Amino acid sequence: MKEHRKIRLIPFFILLILGFGFIFTKQTKSNQKGLSPSIETTVGTKISENNSFTMHFIDVGQGDATLIGCDGEWMLIDAGDNTKGTTVQLYLKKQNVSKLKYVIGTHPDADHIGGLDVIITKFDCENIFMPDKASDSKEYKELLDAIKYRNYNITVPQVGNTFSLGSASCIVLGPIALSESNNNNSIVLKVKYKDTSFLLSGDAEIEEEQDIVDSGVDLKADVYHAGHHGSKTSSVHNWLNKISPKSVVISCGSENVYGHPHRESLDAFKEIGADVYRTDEQGSIVVTSDGENLMWNIDSSNTWRAGQEGNDIILDSTVVRGVIEETGESEVLINNDSNLTKYILNNNSLKFHYPDCKSVPKIKDKNKEEILTTREELIKRGYEPCKICNP
Ligand SMILES: [Zn+2]
Ligand SMILES: [Zn+2]
Repeated sequence: MKEHRKIRLIPFFILLILGFGFIFTKQTKSNQKGLSPSIETTVGTKISENNSFTMHFIDVGQGDATLIGCDGEWMLIDAGDNTKGTTVQLYLKKQNVSKLKYVIGTHPDADHIGGLDVIITKFDCENIFMPDKASDSKEYKELLDAIKYRNYNITVPQVGNTFSLGSASCIVLGPIALSESNNNNSIVLKVKYKDTSFLLSGDAEIEEEQDIVDSGVDLKADVYHAGHHGSKTSSVHNWLNKISPKSVVISCGSENVYGHPHRESLDAFKEIGADVYRTDEQGSIVVTSDGENLMWNIDSSNTWRAGQEGNDIILDSTVVRGVIEETGESEVLINNDSNLTKYILNNNSLKFHYPDCKSVPKIKDKNKEEILTTREELIKRGYEPCKICNP
């Protein structure tokens, strides 16, 4: 009889421990705003939180790095450029990630896979997904070296493949066909957690977007990670309409030379009534799902500010944004307001020349000045065009 009682008591004790574990985790979690995904109790039972799904759009400047956690399992999509591996590593450590169930390199461009070699080296990675497209870049080679060093294999996911991350499900939507352009080989993924859904398309542009639209797959998603950093070459009308997102997240670097996000994309997001979140303005963006509702770590951005293409160039102590392009005769600065040309001034004769004018080498160094400006501006300032090169 005594023997029997003991056996009956054991399940009772396990239940008691579980109960205490549950109360304890509930209390500690309420202080953490419910952002971490799940807790392993001492008896090894997983207790799911209400908010057990999180997606982190990590601020890696110009590039992508997205961490997804569900029920204690983790997936990392891209890891920024070569200089961002450690940034992403530290971010993952802070979330207590030790093992990645899935690592996805959407496509072999440096701003996506550059930091992945660090991640592969530092974390246990169960599955590595990459498209069937090699690159001869240094970053790609370093990534392959890291994968080889860890004795891992690369899996090329096929369109229609599904896999699970905790209780979330993922389906591969692209690339449907391999393209000459790296961007259009991006692995496109739809992630579903209960009644909430997310669409992530790497740098897929119009060509790949159209292929996927044509495939007739269900694109509808609550959150859309804007393709190609909010470039106007992505997020085209019929693609965006099919997704019809409530929220759009743009990963890009502030003052990036590509001018991301482009005006056209921002206008399209505004037109469909989506909230926009952006890493260039707001740093890392975290969204949590309880299966029905989404909670964000920050209010959406309301600036609708488009990027400006080019670099900051200092001209007469004012900063102009533009791209210097070599033309046949001279260097021309192209920016939004005006076309500026590089001239050489002679501050003694008050003449101005094109840089390749044969009289330029004769100007004494102390009188010579190089300037990017307009012809009109120089005349206004009292300079005269050279009679030889006729600038
Ligand atoms: Zn990119
Ligand atoms: Zn790319």
